[in-house]
Amino acid sequence: MQENIIIAGHPAPAQVSTSWQQQLSQAIRDPDTLCQRLGLGAQWLPGAQAGHRLFDICVPDAYLTRIKPNDPNDPLLRQVLPIGDETLASPGYVTDPLEEADHRPIKGLIHKYANRVLLIASPACAINCRYCFRRHFPYSEHSPSRAQWQEALAYIRQDTSIHEAILSGGDPLAASDRQLAWLTEQLASIPHLKRLRIHTRLPVVIPDRVDDALLAWLSATRLQTVMVLHINHANEIDQTVVDACTRLKQKGVTLLNQSVLLKGVNDSVPTLAALSERLFEAGILPYYLHVFDPVQGAAHFDIPDAEAKALVTQLLEHLPGFLMPRLVREIPGKASKTPL
Ligand SMILES: *Cc1c(COP(=O)(O)O)cnc(C)c1O
Ligand code: SF4
Repeated sequence: MQENIIIAGHPAPAQVSTSWQQQLSQAIRDPDTLCQRLGLGAQWLPGAQAGHRLFDICVPDAYLTRIKPNDPNDPLLRQVLPIGDETLASPGYVTDPLEEADHRPIKGLIHKYANRVLLIASPACAINCRYCFRRHFPYSEHSPSRAQWQEALAYIRQDTSIHEAILSGGDPLAASDRQLAWLTEQLASIPHLKRLRIHTRLPVVIPDRVDDALLAWLSATRLQTVMVLHINHANEIDQTVVDACTRLKQKGVTLLNQSVLLKGVNDSVPTLAALSERLFEAGILPYYLHVFDPVQGAAHFDIPDAEAKALVTQLLEHLPGFLMPRLVREIPGKASKTPL
């Protein structure tokens, strides 16, 4: 299979500078191309096709280049390659594990916790993570137009206990800068709002997303800005990600990270320790380590609670306190994330 090894190994796209939008539109979206670009044998294709039918493949090149070719166990590959196990129905694994359907007083807004609201700023993502609890999310119902945003803004305006607006999705940075600049301006005009928080994976998946247009509106707002990135493994942080983080920090953005504890991706003490160390090198502080939500089609990523707790207890011995993420679970009906 020598030829296979030669065509594998993604030296593909020339490094001409393309916009993040172009990079996103050129993302790999089919099982054959993904397996071929990574030199994976034919035995991976049926599983990839079956999973793809349930939840589309989406992997931009900028992320693909961090995956080791010819290695089905690569921790980044496992996050994006569908496997046959996704078609298994597992008892207790549901399609809306967080029961968010109960907390949407207004289109595009979720108010579950005190003092902060979550806004679905974009239904789209730049990558489709196989473990995602939003893989069954009714996105089409949650992409408000500018007129519909007025309702969400009015909701925040009339509740002075709300200090923080959290842009979420999908991935909020999949929205255009024009839209995001407008929304941020509207939010900043609400006197009791102090902070704008953005939960995103885009600066990791396509670091060129952190361009001048993004930095312009982020640095123009009076609101304090926090970005919670979503990184599960140290290999996701290459120099392009470090550079993107540097650009954000230069504009005064506080950078935090949340991870999901995933079997076969980051379920070992050395892997978690390396992740925290690497995050700090990039100027990011670990925030949450989520135990996996029981979402249908992703049971093969699950780690029992006892094992999760044991991992984190051991991790304490390897890291300074400020590099320890908090192990949490989201339990429907609770007023906060629940520490384990
Ligand atoms: C996770 C989450 C938040 C933010 O919680 P923090 O503990 O402040 O990070 C807010 N709203 C919703 C609906 C959430 O799921
Ligand atoms: S980027 Fe986040 S929301 Fe989008 S698929 Fe991945 S985990 Fe899910």
